[in-house]
Amino acid sequence: SVATVNLESDGYTAAEAKLIEEKGEKFTFQTEVNKLMNIIINSLYSKKEIFLRELVSNASDALDKIRFLALTNADLLGEGEQSNLDIHIKIDKANNVLHITDKGIGMTKEELVKNLGTIAQSGTKEFIKKVSDSAESSNLIGQFGVGFYSLFLVADSVVVTSKSNDDDQYVWTSDSQSSYTIAKDPKGNTLGRGTRISLHIKDDSKEFLDQQVIKQLVKKYSQFINFPIYLYVSEE
Ligand code: ADP
Ligand code: MG
Repeated sequence: SVATVNLESDGYTAAEAKLIEEKGEKFTFQTEVNKLMNIIINSLYSKKEIFLRELVSNASDALDKIRFLALTNADLLGEGEQSNLDIHIKIDKANNVLHITDKGIGMTKEELVKNLGTIAQSGTKEFIKKVSDSAESSNLIGQFGVGFYSLFLVADSVVVTSKSNDDDQYVWTSDSQSSYTIAKDPKGNTLGRGTRISLHIKDDSKEFLDQQVIKQLVKKYSQFINFPIYLYVSEE
């Protein structure tokens, strides 16, 4: 279903984002992360649309995790709106931003560093090594779930806002260079629980701010997703 909403409450103004960056703690990506980003950018530029599959599948994984924990402790789901396990995609055309929000398990500050700044799995590390010295990289990468960093195919910067039951709400930002920033959200807990990925869409990828394009992609990928996905479009 597609609804039109006022997006004023979503994300941060440019001034707020700047403040968050200035106040934030700076981190550098693990070397393997830089390598993986380069491989993705160089081999998947013709299949940019996969970023949405990857982000929706991460949202779904996060929802699976909280649903599983709630089997033995229903209180973890929270009350009201927060207990609805769903995914919201919002198109903010005026600001060139695409938001993907889930009410999943969320990430603590420590988890933001570990999950979005490093590659822990030895399999992935090996894969990166193999692909780096191979001419077949685009074939290999096609068979591999490329994950979170595929967002840099369509976005020049990203803001991840996340709230876990175990920590305050944090904001993680990156512009795909070698570093990222983390700051406690000055707005406090606005998510309840879960994660919002806000993509600032590149000039050459504006089609991903088109309602019909996103709707088609959601249709294509959502058949594998066990949670409702809602699409919202900002008022022009
Ligand atoms: P994978 O999904 O194969 O583990 P990704 O690169 O897609 O790899 O994501 C890296 C990690 O970041 C995930 O394993 C997860 O821990 C974390 N993550 C990404 N997106 C979300 C999200 N929406 N909610 C909670 N955690 C997330
Ligand atoms: Mg993933």
